Amino acid sequence: MEFSDNISKLKPSATMAVSSLAKRLKREGRDILDLSAGEPDFDTPAFVCDAAVEGIRAGKTRYTPPAGTPELREAVAAHLSDRAGREVSWEEVVVTAGAKQALFNAIFALFGPGDEVLVLAPYWTTYPALVSIARAEPVAVTGDESNSFKVTPDLLDAAATEHTRGMILNSPSNPTGAVYTLDELAAIAEWARDRNVWILSDEIYRSIYYGDDRVSAPGLLDLPASSLGPYVLIDGASKCFAMTGWRIGYTYCNVELAKKLTAIQSQITSNPASPSQAAALAAYSRPAKAAAAIAEMTAAFQRRRDLVTTRMRELLPEVSFVDPEGAFYLYFRVDSFFNDETPDATSWCSKLLEEQGVALVPGAAFGDDRWVRMSFATSDEILEKALSRIAAGVGASSAA
Ligand code: PMP
Repeated sequence: MEFSDNISKLKPSATMAVSSLAKRLKREGRDILDLSAGEPDFDTPAFVCDAAVEGIRAGKTRYTPPAGTPELREAVAAHLSDRAGREVSWEEVVVTAGAKQALFNAIFALFGPGDEVLVLAPYWTTYPALVSIARAEPVAVTGDESNSFKVTPDLLDAAATEHTRGMILNSPSNPTGAVYTLDELAAIAEWARDRNVWILSDEIYRSIYYGDDRVSAPGLLDLPASSLGPYVLIDGASKCFAMTGWRIGYTYCNVELAKKLTAIQSQITSNPASPSQAAALAAYSRPAKAAAAIAEMTAAFQRRRDLVTTRMRELLPEVSFVDPEGAFYLYFRVDSFFNDETPDATSWCSKLLEEQGVALVPGAAFGDDRWVRMSFATSDEILEKALSRIAAGVGASSAA
């Protein structure tokens, strides 16, 4: 069958594919430890759920304006004003059906055929896919492994051409958990500003941060406005409020672009689901409750981060990994275990799932199939068991 060029490079999301297979095997009765999912294992905070139920009972079940209700846009703008220490207008905020739609809107509005978009790698699997859907060219840029793969201006210089129109940055990073310091961000922002390159900054893991210097990871809004060229901030409720299924994200950018993003959305999905907007309004307009919920979840993620990094060092001391400073992923290198039967991380992960019942995501999803991603958004018990099974799978002597 012939399909359009729009989808010539399209593949289903690799991370979702592993999750779906793991879920299927589980349903079939297999003992599967699923460390592939990119979502918190916590329930959405009760005050948020209550607001949704009240909203539904109060008739908040109809279309809303495409960019979200004015109340929600105002609440997000107030949240961003707090973060930035400067006035943010609600008209600059467009609420979307998850951060994924926010990214789609921005990429589709800004880039097209002939444009190159730098995608800082290892990247979340969806970035290059969305750039390709817009028929622009994704260009991966990878930093040094010794610097948690973080990219510096000289690497950007080497990758940029006259066609470079944008850059996609994700800190804290999925899949590595690496976090750019404020100085590193400032250097990248300056590089982009001087070349008039759009920065799309995906800060969805911003509040899942383990540094003791501040409550959340540095983001674009921590930089002085004068140091920024054109940019779109992408964030949402999915990770920080454990609201993945509700589908609420947003963009923050200049009003002219926000109107275009709204127009795209008005033609594609009309508006984010109205009960979800009622839920998100509670999350964004009750900062004390929101902060308490986030702090509780982040403390649990941090404890698990410590658990998995400690156990990795004990069980698999020869395996290198990126020390996660944020998000809830451990990215580790498995090419020392490759052989004729499992020559890459994709086949290695399939064997691990088949023989040990542990689901990880192969690095092919993130641009390097020598690595794998483990999500530690699950219980200590499952993490302990999974790590022992991985060690057993590779025949580590200390696994016994
Ligand atoms: N950005 C990153 C880096 C992510 O990891 C994810 C979810 N895996 C998203 C965006 C998408 O978030 P949402 O579920 O809100 O669409």
